[in-house]
Amino acid sequence: MNGTCKMNGESEGCNNSSSSGDSGGDLVDGVSCADMFRNKEGLTYNDFIILPGYIDFIPNEVTLHAKLTRNIGLNCPLVSSPMDTVTESEMAIAMSLSGGIGIIHHNCTPEFQAQEVLKVKKYKHGFIRDPVVLSPSHTVRDVFAIKKQYGFSGTPITENGKLGGKLMGIVTSRDIDFFEGRMNVTLDEVMSTDLVTAGANVKLAEANHIMEKSKKGKLPIVNEDYELVALIARTDLKKARSFPNASKDANKQLIVGAAIGTRESDRERLEGLVAAGVDVVVLDSSQGNSSYQIEMIKFIKAKYPNLDIVAGNVVTTSQAKNLIDAGADGLRVGMGSGSICITQEVMAVGRAQATAVYNVAKYAAQFGIPIIADGGIQSVGHIIKALSLGASTCMMGSMLAGTTEAPGEYFFADGVRLKKYRGMGSLEAMERKDATSSTSGGKGGTSAAMNRYFHSEGDRMMVAQGVSGSIVDKGSVLRFLPYLESGIRHGCQDMGVRSLFELRDFTYNGKLRFERRTTSAQLEGGVHGLYNYEKRLF
Ligand code: GDP
Ligand code: GDP
Ligand code: 5GP
Repeated sequence: MNGTCKMNGESEGCNNSSSSGDSGGDLVDGVSCADMFRNKEGLTYNDFIILPGYIDFIPNEVTLHAKLTRNIGLNCPLVSSPMDTVTESEMAIAMSLSGGIGIIHHNCTPEFQAQEVLKVKKYKHGFIRDPVVLSPSHTVRDVFAIKKQYGFSGTPITENGKLGGKLMGIVTSRDIDFFEGRMNVTLDEVMSTDLVTAGANVKLAEANHIMEKSKKGKLPIVNEDYELVALIARTDLKKARSFPNASKDANKQLIVGAAIGTRESDRERLEGLVAAGVDVVVLDSSQGNSSYQIEMIKFIKAKYPNLDIVAGNVVTTSQAKNLIDAGADGLRVGMGSGSICITQEVMAVGRAQATAVYNVAKYAAQFGIPIIADGGIQSVGHIIKALSLGASTCMMGSMLAGTTEAPGEYFFADGVRLKKYRGMGSLEAMERKDATSSTSGGKGGTSAAMNRYFHSEGDRMMVAQGVSGSIVDKGSVLRFLPYLESGIRHGCQDMGVRSLFELRDFTYNGKLRFERRTTSAQLEGGVHGLYNYEKRLF
């Protein structure tokens, strides 16, 4: 080992600074990541442990920036899975507000999915460049209708009732609060006309300042002819301050992904998603190394060259090669490791997740392609392990299912509050039997879940690759994600790395040391020897 490691307080500190391999003699414990996988066994997260490094910083100094794809960065490495019991707009908004991202599932009609994407993109803005606008001759009833449809009522009034028309006034909830019995009153009678506005060239920070000073809830942006070009909402500034780590695009709108399949009809589905403003598309196949997926990647790259594509799933380097060669910007890694998944049992195909993550991440890193460790994450420790094996982000299903933001209603069984969680390859998902918002639309034809698990239209019999079950109420993800982030920071501190990028360097240069665990070591690493205990995590 070069440098001096702090042992028993005798010398100044360093991290585990052996440059590779085991050249440091007695002071180097464990093995490098490469050595751990050298004998080509299939390992899972529980099969190994990471050895501690040297701490000279606090957890809050650890930055969790991560790459989702070649061009999309996140503020924390967490992704919600495109499953119909995990990610619709509510989950995607919470994930993005917390610095991660949600991928909207596609076990629904194209219209429903596009609408969910739109809800995420419309949740918050810098400039609202397409505000809903009315004219002075519209009525109070129209404003209530807007409130019912979109959830807001602050509506600029222009001469012709359109964006680009001359600004006449603004109607907000306060103007119509007591008008329930007078729906036919026209807006010229109720609108406020003492407007504070800003010019079209105003920068966002300056516009925010004007709005704060004016103490108004909305700031219309107008050109030199006093025509409306955009709107700014005070609520958005508050949202930005409450969630400073949110994953945002250039206009401060939340970023969101959507899953699609590889059929001809998915090309149309994609059109709607792109129109709604989707930031990244995930090609959703359980075995992604297929001509269908390669053709789809090529099609998307030709038609939407600026749209990032996550391809997969893959678990081997040769699978990864085909998708990277075709133009994938990120890869999703995992086959048969998910909590609801029976692929390995039924198909006898797949790979142990730790081995899959390490091998694919190492190969993809040569091309600057980040990988998502997908499935099998059961704890914050598993997230840290996945990242330490080279994953850039982690995709979770069961960890996020059962939260307030997951689709579906709570129900009670044996006095326990539960929500449904099901594999997308379960018969129930493939048949779309239930009537949740996501699965009620578009019956007839094959479901998207079915397409994920069957390539051929001619399959006579469905073979389930997942199960359907329930999961205990976990409360809101807005409370759960900060716990995960904090846990990752503490893990990084214990390993002696200040960022996830440094963690990856340590993985590949051998500074991060690992050890395989025997079955009894794994038991020792869990709670043991107690008569009973309560496991509260945060
Ligand atoms: P950046 O990440 O470096 O672009 O910084 P921020 O996004 O945190 O903030 C840049 C400026 O935009 C600051 O004046 C913020 O207060 C403001 N800002 C951030 N998000 C929003 C938003 O959603 N709406 C509005 N109106 N302003 C925002
Ligand atoms: P309001 O006072 O009822 O208009 O609602 P808020 O100002 O509290 O919240 C409006 C939210 O909806 C903000 O986060 C906006 O970014 C978002 N939004 C999206 N599209 C529009 C739009 O066309 N008009 C308005 N007023 N808000 C929009
Ligand atoms: P979890 O986080 O619950 O362990 O795993 C979630 C992941 O399992 C998903 O992101 C997806 O890749 C995978 N998955 C979801 N449904 C099924 C299924 O029915 N069968 C299989 N084999 N995998 C599934």
